[in-house]
Amino acid sequence: MKLVQCWDDGVTTDVRLVSLLRRHGARATFNLNAGLHAPERRFGWLHQGTEVWRLAEGELREVYDGFTVANHTLTHPPLDSLPADALRHEIGEGRARLQALFGQPVRGFVYPFGAFNDEVAQVVRDTGHLYARTTRDAHAGVGTAEPMAATPSCHFLAPDFWQRFDRARPTGVFWFWGHSYELLDDAMWTAFEASVARLCAEPGAQWHDPIDLFDPESP
Ligand SMILES: [Zn+2]
Repeated sequence: MKLVQCWDDGVTTDVRLVSLLRRHGARATFNLNAGLHAPERRFGWLHQGTEVWRLAEGELREVYDGFTVANHTLTHPPLDSLPADALRHEIGEGRARLQALFGQPVRGFVYPFGAFNDEVAQVVRDTGHLYARTTRDAHAGVGTAEPMAATPSCHFLAPDFWQRFDRARPTGVFWFWGHSYELLDDAMWTAFEASVARLCAEPGAQWHDPIDLFDPESP
């Protein structure tokens, strides 16, 4: 079974997450906004009363070393309300800057707020991306038939996470997503680490990146 996970927004709690994932040998893709990282870590917003901070630009390469990065636009606007030139800039420039920064091909995309329409999807395709993830959950398994409207199995905090995993088993792919800032306390981190360990122990389980589901060259 292919286990797939991806995490959004490039926040400081990703430092703890990558450390956890490395302990378990779990691959992951991180969806980043190249235009939102300053020379210093920067306060972003409050999530359930907890401060969310973005990583500093200079630490991105080290934090995500060994992981895959994907494009989440330059500055995280809702794309379905942008004029055409701004739309192309947000998507194309976001990808170009990530590729320059990480020295790896960037072929995955995630819509900010899950917002897209046909025009947005076309620009994502035209700028060199092989898939674009929505925030919709796939009720009938991971959705890859429409690569520009790709659906994961569920969010990592879905109350029915393991039921969805069981339903995904016959399809051979289980793909979850989230934000590490949603892990609010040590108890949640411990529970998530137990979930990763349980996934790793699944017979025949192998971690993949989302791009592997869309790239015919991938195993
Ligand atoms: Zn986001």
